[in-house]
Amino acid sequence: MFYPKDISNLIDGFMKLPGIGPKTATRLAFFVLNMREDDVLEIAKSLVNVKRNLHYCSICCNITDVDPCHICSDPKRDQTTICVVQDPKDVVAMEKTREYHGLYHVLHGAISPMDGLGPEDIRIPELLKRLEAPEVKELIMATNPTIEGEATAMYIHRLVKPFSLSVTRIAHGLPVGGDLEYADEVTLSKALEGRREL
Ligand SMILES: [Zn+2]
Repeated sequence: MFYPKDISNLIDGFMKLPGIGPKTATRLAFFVLNMREDDVLEIAKSLVNVKRNLHYCSICCNITDVDPCHICSDPKRDQTTICVVQDPKDVVAMEKTREYHGLYHVLHGAISPMDGLGPEDIRIPELLKRLEAPEVKELIMATNPTIEGEATAMYIHRLVKPFSLSVTRIAHGLPVGGDLEYADEVTLSKALEGRREL
């Protein structure tokens, strides 16, 4: 390209991010060029810090700056229940509900033979190790309502049969405020499946 080297380096850098093609990367690079220096330094520092200071919790595999993470080391959390999610962002989503007070386990993905991801490629061995603790009584499978998420939930369910655990799956269904006639059939059948007594 014909841009000065620093600009093309920045464009190349942005293009390494998901969903960013050459056009957006170029736009962002020129936007940065016009930003206040303080703001640019702040972003640069955050980028470095997120890589340097964050790591995975040795218990739940969530991202954390302390080990064990704040949730795992909180004695007020219900130690008998582990909610299994695919992604650290799912932990945040669950926490926002303020309805759940147990522990988590972050798999960092789902089983997906199409993408060459087997059970060993996500944090299933770490989960099994945790189940050896006698206080764990329930596993809530909160993986995504996708083919991969469902397959992962079923796989783990089968795998933990030897432990005497209650394994539950979160109900998937219609979004609140949604219209029944616009729901796709998978969502609707899941909603039906997850029905409960009124
Ligand atoms: Zn943790």
